[in-house]
Amino acid sequence: MKKIAILGSTGSIGTQTLEIVRTNKDLEVVALAAGGNVTLMEQQVREFHPKVAVMWSAEAAEDLKQRVSDMEVRILCGMDGLLELAVLPEVEVLVTAIVGMIGIRPTIAAIEAGKTIALANKETLVCAGHIIMPLAREKGVSILPVDSEHSAIFQSMNGEPKNRIEKILLTASGGPFRGKKKEELVNIKPENALKHPNWFMGRKITIDSSTLVNKGLEVIEAKWLFDVDFSQIQVVVHPQSIIHSMVEYVDGGIMAQLGTPDMKLPIQYALFYPDRRPMEGKRLDFYELANITFEKPDMETFRGLKLAYEAGEMGGSMPTVLNAANEKAVSLFLDGKIEYLQIAEIIEACMQNHKRIENPDVAQILAAEKETYEYIAGKYL
Ligand code: NDP
Repeated sequence: MKKIAILGSTGSIGTQTLEIVRTNKDLEVVALAAGGNVTLMEQQVREFHPKVAVMWSAEAAEDLKQRVSDMEVRILCGMDGLLELAVLPEVEVLVTAIVGMIGIRPTIAAIEAGKTIALANKETLVCAGHIIMPLAREKGVSILPVDSEHSAIFQSMNGEPKNRIEKILLTASGGPFRGKKKEELVNIKPENALKHPNWFMGRKITIDSSTLVNKGLEVIEAKWLFDVDFSQIQVVVHPQSIIHSMVEYVDGGIMAQLGTPDMKLPIQYALFYPDRRPMEGKRLDFYELANITFEKPDMETFRGLKLAYEAGEMGGSMPTVLNAANEKAVSLFLDGKIEYLQIAEIIEACMQNHKRIENPDVAQILAAEKETYEYIAGKYL
């Protein structure tokens, strides 16, 4: 029996992880955590019988406590609850499927306690990769990527020595506005940007996919996960999302991982690595694949990707500022308070305003986030 805990169990990745638990009877859910969706958490507690369930707010936790008072489950709340969950002695694998920088501290706590990390929460590596990766090495902990592109890279690297890698080819669907120019993006509304052509994901990451900021965050995530330079990570637009990413070796040989766009595969691969388990679902039919095409990303129109490369190269606290500015700008856009093109503008302004810190600790990362939010509130609200 493999014992897992899920941070963000009510979200897109969290619920798909639980689908995998349903079909693999040797997985046991020890703990679940979510933000505010008490109704879904109650259903999950009743179905999966975790020992611990965490809700972010005290009110949501109290509500959950009342609803499941007939069950044997400990209900916790807030950051203390997430930190307690992360180090529960029974937990072997922590799935970090929470959205945002809130995932950093529980992930560090879990690594310190020796847990394997199935990592979906890319913000953790973007902001704190310089802390997380050395700590994981020191503790002998595996960080297994759940993001489909990083899982594809990981699968394509299996068994090859790192010094034989020439570059990573990180594929991108290009999102719903691929091929459009800036003038055509002026009147984009949240409902247009929330329509991803290939993947069904949470709201924030869907907007990030449309702006290519998501790809930028993935570039920084790849740098940390695979210990390569930014110059070795090339983004390739591939609208069909069939090739999930590739690795080119020093002899010019390229390994790729292909499949239908289904997040359950990378999630399951991370949960059972190095084993491969059977999985139901649509298979690729090469006789039906009429076209697979590739393009260069348009970094002038989709400035978020360029800014992410810049923030990544600058390093230190700059990726945190990029990420925090983007988180805030996306939430303002979803609330109808700013225009679509202002997302990249705000990120750039925040990066220009920030005095970079070389090797930020967690407190300095959180302070850079706060400073970014305050700057946006002062300038745009
Ligand atoms: P969703 O928005 O669908 O889900 C987010 C989850 O986090 C929900 O369970 C939510 O709970 C929970 N949450 C939010 N805030 C808190 C908090 N303060 N405390 C505890 N839990 C909280 O996001 P996704 O599943 O799409 O994405 C999760 C992460 O995985 C992101 O970092 C994303 O970039 C990454 N990722 C996602 C992919 C995808 O296909 N969706 C692909 C690759 C990476 P509630 O709903 O109850 O508020």
